[in-house]
Amino acid sequence: MPTTAFDLVGADKSVVVARINGELRDLATEVSDTDVVEAVSVHTPEGLAVLRHSTAHVLAQAVQDTFPEAKLGIGPPIKDGFYYDFDVARPFTPEDLEVLEKRMVAIVKSGQRFSRRVVEEGPAAIELSDEPFKLRLIGSEGGADVMEVGGAELTIYDNIDPKTGERCWGDLCRGPHVPDTRYIVPNAFKLMRTAAAYWLGDQKNESLQRVYGTCWPSKDELKAHLTLLEEAERRDHRRLGAELDLFSFPEQIGSGLAVFHPKGGVVRRVMEDYSRRRHEEGGYEFVNTPHITKGALVEQSGHLQWYAEGMYPPMHLDAEVDAEGHVRKQGVDYYLKPMNCPMHNLIYSARGRSYRELPMRLFEFGTVYRYEKSGVVQGLTRARGFTQDDAHIYCTKEQMGDELDRLLTFVLNLLRDYGLEDFYLELSTRDPIKSVGTDEEWAEATEALRLAAEKQGLELVLDEGGAAFYGPKVSVQAKDAIGRTWQMSTIQVDFQLPQRFDLEYQSGDGTRQRPIMIHRALFGSIERFFAVLLEHYGGAFPPWLAPVQVIGIPITDEHNPYLEQIAGRLRDRGVRIEIDTSDDRMQKKIRTAQRSKVPFMLIAGDEDVAAGAVSFRYRDGTQKNGVLIDDALAEIISAIDSRAQV
Ligand SMILES: [Zn+2]
Ligand SMILES: [Zn+2]
Repeated sequence: MPTTAFDLVGADKSVVVARINGELRDLATEVSDTDVVEAVSVHTPEGLAVLRHSTAHVLAQAVQDTFPEAKLGIGPPIKDGFYYDFDVARPFTPEDLEVLEKRMVAIVKSGQRFSRRVVEEGPAAIELSDEPFKLRLIGSEGGADVMEVGGAELTIYDNIDPKTGERCWGDLCRGPHVPDTRYIVPNAFKLMRTAAAYWLGDQKNESLQRVYGTCWPSKDELKAHLTLLEEAERRDHRRLGAELDLFSFPEQIGSGLAVFHPKGGVVRRVMEDYSRRRHEEGGYEFVNTPHITKGALVEQSGHLQWYAEGMYPPMHLDAEVDAEGHVRKQGVDYYLKPMNCPMHNLIYSARGRSYRELPMRLFEFGTVYRYEKSGVVQGLTRARGFTQDDAHIYCTKEQMGDELDRLLTFVLNLLRDYGLEDFYLELSTRDPIKSVGTDEEWAEATEALRLAAEKQGLELVLDEGGAAFYGPKVSVQAKDAIGRTWQMSTIQVDFQLPQRFDLEYQSGDGTRQRPIMIHRALFGSIERFFAVLLEHYGGAFPPWLAPVQVIGIPITDEHNPYLEQIAGRLRDRGVRIEIDTSDDRMQKKIRTAQRSKVPFMLIAGDEDVAAGAVSFRYRDGTQKNGVLIDDALAEIISAIDSRAQV
């Protein structure tokens, strides 16, 4: 018997696949003494992807068992699970998914072996003559990007019944897979939803039905994942945005374009005001730039060459045509700006700069417009127009280290002030193939970023070769209250734009030098950060950010004037207070305030009026009675001023 990878590393059942001489292969692969064979566990990202993809096969088999006329598309692993595309007569219903899931469990339990078979293109085409999409893959459509083909040879995986040795099903695929379907845990996967999807993601192609599934190594992990999804759904910013009357996306304006309602407007203004104050203290200068620009500027910056897909088509302006249709004057193309950097560069180069002016830190809440396909637009986190808290820092090479260090501290402290606490940093280094700038520049900037990052004492993840071609970058990843990671701020060194804009400064010895340019956005965009905070807090903003900070609740109408007096004192101190003078009973008023997640309630009745006190109620339902007005006011103001997380 020849030795297989399974013989060497397969004893442990958590090993789902092997790395043989560096390549992921089936455990059934025959190996020789000279091969380097490593076990790959299902508890690694690669192993988990193999498990998920194998489960996609089981789904496809279940679909063709149930709907024999269904034709197969592709079925890759994705984050948290897998999908498979099918050409079917009608879309799948939720009931179909239940039936399919049951069928999958039966297949999983039957322990079918995934058996690899190399096929020549000709015979493969005959074998798959009933599968038009697979045929197109053999015909090289899709190329090396899809799981199914793109290996050194064409392979079909047959599912073999362990009892009879018979072939039950098969699929064109380059693999690898788990050894048999029993590696898939029957109650650790779930079909989640269906959606229409174009063949190979191209809207010129046929529309197929995609089934999404989630899949985990154990039942407990599936359960934890489903709980997290529920929690995320409960906190979804689009849902909370509507429930709390913060913002909306009117159909009449268009996809990905938000309007902020008064309550959302308050939160946004407070976020901006605080950020402005901190930037002022941090030595930033405030600038303003327009929303549209002549094409020449975005050509000079390179955006038109490399970023055209993310930009809106041009507006052709100022052309003059006479009555006969002859062009008297050529027009000019204007574009909506996709980024603020080119305009900030023009401010820098508006006059000669001296080294004495550096570092120069230009800050703007700059609104930009980026074209996103309607399918990927998602609430405030992926919008078509948004406002960046954008800054560009111009400094000398000697200043770069200190500046980056200071910048990262500034960024992290500000994020902490907004209530995010759990961070790690990612350092993206030079792409060896494509980059501008000298070796020395890259080495210096990368080292400066690394030092600055290490000084923070946070986990630093290397993104080797992941930098944009124009310079290295540090990004701040923040974990929210339910453990999800959001990419927040980026600090990006740029060797390219200073060249393209011929930026200069006069150095101490009178020579002309090129400044280093650093791009940084802290929130990313205000809209996205708003969404992150809304989800992080589940809508219960801390008092300093809450749109309404205090609600006064009279026990009867007679107590309105008393509460109005207290409200007046709070308003004088800038506190946002409302009094619920509706006809509702007190208990209902309390429920309403709780639903709108107002941090503090002040309730007043006869006894309170007599004692010069209030009942002080928090949104978690706890309550202190007979609190003297002065004490209540002091507590509220201190919670707001200290940006406490109440
Ligand atoms: Zn496969
Ligand atoms: Zn920039």
